[in-house]
Amino acid sequence: MLGEVTGLKIKILEYDDRSIRFLVENIPLALLNAIRRLTISDVPSMAIDYVYFIENSSPLYDEIVAHRLGLIPLTSDRALEKYGPPEECRDNEERPDCYARLYLEAEASDGTKVVYSGDLVSDDEDVQPVYKNIPIVVLGPGQKISFEARARLGRGREHAKWSPVSAATHKYVPQIIVNSEKCYGESCAKCVNVCPKNVLKIKDGKLVVEDELSCSLCRQCEKVCPNDAILVSWKPSSYIMYVESTGVLRPERIVLEASRILEEKAEQLLSELER
Ligand code: SF4
Ligand code: SF4
Repeated sequence: MLGEVTGLKIKILEYDDRSIRFLVENIPLALLNAIRRLTISDVPSMAIDYVYFIENSSPLYDEIVAHRLGLIPLTSDRALEKYGPPEECRDNEERPDCYARLYLEAEASDGTKVVYSGDLVSDDEDVQPVYKNIPIVVLGPGQKISFEARARLGRGREHAKWSPVSAATHKYVPQIIVNSEKCYGESCAKCVNVCPKNVLKIKDGKLVVEDELSCSLCRQCEKVCPNDAILVSWKPSSYIMYVESTGVLRPERIVLEASRILEEKAEQLLSELER
């Protein structure tokens, strides 16, 4: 059962261009997990889907080069507004708002030449390789490669190349309770030494919990305590969610899009039930 969502609170713990870590309070786990799974499988992004080879005398078969091209992350933030939805664009090359085109022409004259993702020339400034240094193929002396690639919006559940995340996780919010009457403090410190996350410290001779959110819930501190003075548990209905983008979309955008998709699915279900 989902239960009611009341008093939901969000606190951002870490945030940069590529990842976001935030604390969510008062949310049912099933709801948060649905959002997490949608970040992996349903939030659309651009990826190369067709490659038309004009010439390829490299050591790699066309199919291998095409597969490697599909896995190059392409910027998609603006593409989400510009390109048609995955369901309508799949195998629909005639529709003008479905595909961005990326071209590459390279030749190794004397020595060897590494062809990188940064050598791709896109006809859309909003659809560019996120990383310019991904090797596509190594050309030997005199070898050439030339092709036109077409990228469209897709979803991770169709192929992992469209999944915008490299990690999407959630974990319980740790709660560590120390019974000061039972704890030996400085004269023991066994839990401090065993903790892999440096959560526990001795201060003024006493054991203190310094960085509770970093706790991995490994419970090693409980195991080594000779006096059952420490109890590791977790807060109910509170979770820490972590989303790491492949670079195709901003991390907060991924979470927002996943939440919107969940809302749409719930509304669809509701209208079907009402009908
Ligand atoms: S459960 Fe593990 S990580 Fe957490 S405080 Fe204990 S030893 Fe450290
Ligand atoms: S191992 Fe137990 S008794 Fe020793 S410092 Fe930790 S909590 Fe206190």
